[in-house]
Amino acid sequence: MRRGRGAGVQATPARHVRAFDQNADMAPAPQTPQGAAAALDVCRRASLREFNTFGLPAAAATLIRIASEADVRRVVDHPQYGRAAKFVLGGGSNIVFTRDVSAVVLKVEVMGRRLVCETPEAWIVEAGAGERWHDLVAWTLEQGWPGLENLALIPGTVGAAPVQNIGAYGLELAERFDALDAVDLVTGRTVTLDGAACRFGYRDSVFKQQGFGGLAGKSLITRVRLRLPRPWQPVLGYLDLERKRADSGIDAPDARTVFDWVCAIRRAKLPDPALLGNAGSFFKNPVVSAEQCRDIIGRDPAIVHYPLADGSCKLAAGWLIDACGWKGKSVGRAAVHERQALVLVNRGGASGAEVVTLARAIQESVYGRFGIRLEPEPVIV
Ligand SMILES: Cc1cc2nc3c(=O)[nH]c(=O)nc-3n(C[C@H](O)[C@H](O)[C@H](O)COP(=O)(O)OP(=O)(O)OC[C@H]3O[C@@H](n4cnc5c(N)ncnc54)[C@H](O)[C@@H]3O)c2cc1C
Repeated sequence: MRRGRGAGVQATPARHVRAFDQNADMAPAPQTPQGAAAALDVCRRASLREFNTFGLPAAAATLIRIASEADVRRVVDHPQYGRAAKFVLGGGSNIVFTRDVSAVVLKVEVMGRRLVCETPEAWIVEAGAGERWHDLVAWTLEQGWPGLENLALIPGTVGAAPVQNIGAYGLELAERFDALDAVDLVTGRTVTLDGAACRFGYRDSVFKQQGFGGLAGKSLITRVRLRLPRPWQPVLGYLDLERKRADSGIDAPDARTVFDWVCAIRRAKLPDPALLGNAGSFFKNPVVSAEQCRDIIGRDPAIVHYPLADGSCKLAAGWLIDACGWKGKSVGRAAVHERQALVLVNRGGASGAEVVTLARAIQESVYGRFGIRLEPEPVIV
């Protein structure tokens, strides 16, 4: 069993130091005019085990807690950290650490939530990137600003939500997105991006893209603004939610009921990372052409698939993995969950290498049987 998260940086042995004396081996960092260096919260040799929901062992040579945009600029302007490679860390719920991290880890802890404005069409709500996503969902609901309930209980931070355009139960973040603020990790400049600039796709955005105009690893999101449409309308198209409606006999549920249904479905289906380390769905659901889909259905009529508007088809990755007989199988202490083939778990003491070896074996066997390449959803570091 893993220890609960949020217990702070674990000492291995870690040293908390002020940036001006962050490294006794080096000359003290010069003070900037703003006294910037003095304000950075730096931890040396920080364990990352408590900072990833898989509970994988890894350490950061340097971890800096980022509480504001100004902190990001202090890092960028810093004589030592400014030039160093950087890795942005939220809640660690979509990461597989396979080794120690030599890049400077920027742990995002920008807090705050507020209603920006209310119009007849929408509530615009803003939250700091370090806020817990689920807390924001629950808070907006309590305030009487519904619209995020289908995305309840997704672990992680607000700032990471646009990175992979989180989605669940028939709704994606992109459908509730207004804009975000991010700081460029090279220039220190703040930019504001709207939905088009974020280039949202299925579990994808400009923050995951490397090519032309891609921002992967280049910026740190500090604040996210969401647009919650008025009047509120429930999103109930997802099969599990339709079942809840039929079973409960509630034809027109309110937002709180949808929230409760989503939480209940998730708790029944997904292992709690506090008890069994995992990163949620390990693979994306592959999208195939209509022709490929017909071919696969011809061979495996039971395959779970969802037709898309453009004629292509999304296949259930969990079904493909299960069909290859992976449920419950393991490599070392890394295993495929007994009930959810799409979820890889840490049975206790797994290494990132074991998780990756298991994932590769699954990819090969699914490719061998169906000719489909599964793409991992978490970031492998
Ligand atoms: C049990 C479980 C269930 C899950 N269910 C779902 C689900 O239903 N739907 C879904 O979409 N996902 C799901 N996930 C995956 C995960 O919760 C989301 O991807 C979440 O948004 C990750 O947030 P995080 O703060 O933990 O990000 P991290 O894991 O810390 O980081 C993920 C990536 O985002 C980058 N990043 C993080 N914060 C920032 C920032 N402020 N600025 C720039 N880059 C940043 C990191 O560098 C990294 O590349 C689940 C995970 C678990 C463990």
